[in-house]
Amino acid sequence: MPTETKFDSPPETQQSRRAARIAARDAIIRSAPKLHTVIKYPHPTLLKPSALVTEFTPELAQFVEEMFDSMYAAEGIGLAAPQIDVSQQITVIDISFLERPEDKLVLINPVVIDRRGKQLEEEGCLSLPEIREKIQRDAWVKVRAQNVKGEFFEVEGEELLARAMLHEIDHLNGILFIDRLSRLKRDLVLRRIRKLQKNGEW
Ligand SMILES: [Zn+2]
Repeated sequence: MPTETKFDSPPETQQSRRAARIAARDAIIRSAPKLHTVIKYPHPTLLKPSALVTEFTPELAQFVEEMFDSMYAAEGIGLAAPQIDVSQQITVIDISFLERPEDKLVLINPVVIDRRGKQLEEEGCLSLPEIREKIQRDAWVKVRAQNVKGEFFEVEGEELLARAMLHEIDHLNGILFIDRLSRLKRDLVLRRIRKLQKNGEW
């Protein structure tokens, strides 16, 4: 069965999984100490490269937890700090949306160091609600990043995980998925956004 890939929104699956996800999201909304609002295109913070993180403090670790909470509250599987108006190279990912704890991934100052193959799947983004387009991405990537303690590590991912990491790393460089569309398709999307803005639906 084909599944849609929506970023930062998770792939739509069976009703029961969606119900479980909503219950998990609601529990986080109730208990999270602090939730950040996700900003939308064309907020300027989304359109510029973010700064390298140089201080690995307890406050950073706490901020990363707030990012996870904010991501789950928005029903996302990935969130980059610029999306909550913090222009720093921090992103959190959980492609299983709380189903597998080992899937929780924090990438600080990430860099793609190897890539292979191509995949073409539909993406969405919390900062571009309702917009979904097919985007070509690398099928497999290796990323080098730092954790909340500042320790370097490498992570490899394919398919959905590769797509999630590439989508979020793009955010850290001020790139949105619509920037990877053909000019014609991008213009059509921008026209649709302007219409939504005009109707007060954006
Ligand atoms: Zn996004």
